Amino acid sequence: MSGPTHPWVVGVDLGGSNLRVAVYRELAAAAATARAAGAPLAQEPAAVVRRPVGEDRRVDVIVARIVDAVAEVLGAVGVSRVAVVPVGVGIAAMLADRRGTVANSPHLGWRGVGFGPLLSRRLGPARPVGVYNDVNAIGFGEFGVGAGAGARDLLCVYVGTGIGGAVVVNGVLAEGATNCAGEIGHVKVAWGDTAAPCNCGGRGCVEAYVGGAYVLARIRRELAAGARSLAVDLAGGDPAAVHPGHVDAAAAEGDPWALALWTELAPLFAVALGNAITLLNPDRVVLGGGMFGRTPTLRDQALVALSMVTPPALLDPVDIVMAALGDDAGLVGSALLADGGVSLI
Ligand SMILES: [Zn+2]
Repeated sequence: MSGPTHPWVVGVDLGGSNLRVAVYRELAAAAATARAAGAPLAQEPAAVVRRPVGEDRRVDVIVARIVDAVAEVLGAVGVSRVAVVPVGVGIAAMLADRRGTVANSPHLGWRGVGFGPLLSRRLGPARPVGVYNDVNAIGFGEFGVGAGAGARDLLCVYVGTGIGGAVVVNGVLAEGATNCAGEIGHVKVAWGDTAAPCNCGGRGCVEAYVGGAYVLARIRRELAAGARSLAVDLAGGDPAAVHPGHVDAAAAEGDPWALALWTELAPLFAVALGNAITLLNPDRVVLGGGMFGRTPTLRDQALVALSMVTPPALLDPVDIVMAALGDDAGLVGSALLADGGVSLI
């Protein structure tokens, strides 16, 4: 363990719909225990509050909500106002620097917003603030006390509505020059005018093919255009109710349309993941996210394709596992990251 650690540390998960704030006790010690055991060690917060982000997304309004929630959880455990308690925030955003300036957050409607500096001013000097991309926080949580515990070099990839990633090298989260390291969702797997458009403004990003929101839109489009599939029966006969889980179950049954779609998408994901493995040589890969959680057939196809696009010298040593911490990974990870440094080795 490098750097000082604190007895109490706060994690904040600022998503598109919900704000969660949790305080943990002796989290660094728990991470050391998990690391020594090489096994997940689920952490219960000492106090937690959860509330809607709300309709008003102005930065000063959101910051005020976070400040109130931090005071509430620290009050619940009796921490004094002068005790130093780091506050780590995981946010669904592309960041612009290490101070927490948000370059772009479609969920919050923020572009070029000085979120971190304002939160830091409002919380005061006893609450040092760290702001992290949400999947970087998730990845570090999995590394610290979850499915990555005991690893040294970790790649975490979350396939949810979009695709995010986190890179840990030699126990340290790779933040990059502008806090954007790990954005594997925007790795290109196609280019040119026919490549799929992505929410980031680019084209051909792997997220634009395999991200859950894009897969769902494509499913709806193809079924509305007359594609026939067992997935519609599995969804109760309503094409508009089909979600990726139905398509996955249909593919497992050999449904031709579902299989064709998965057979197209699986190698695209495998190319992005395999190239990242080739570049980084991790000893563990943690896969998670809502989309991958309900599409085991797609996941298995991607892992088969992975073996075709990754040199054995890099693939053989990798332990590929599923995420262990669920919804709490980002809370724990942002708290660990804020706790006096990002190294757990
Ligand atoms: Zn993109």
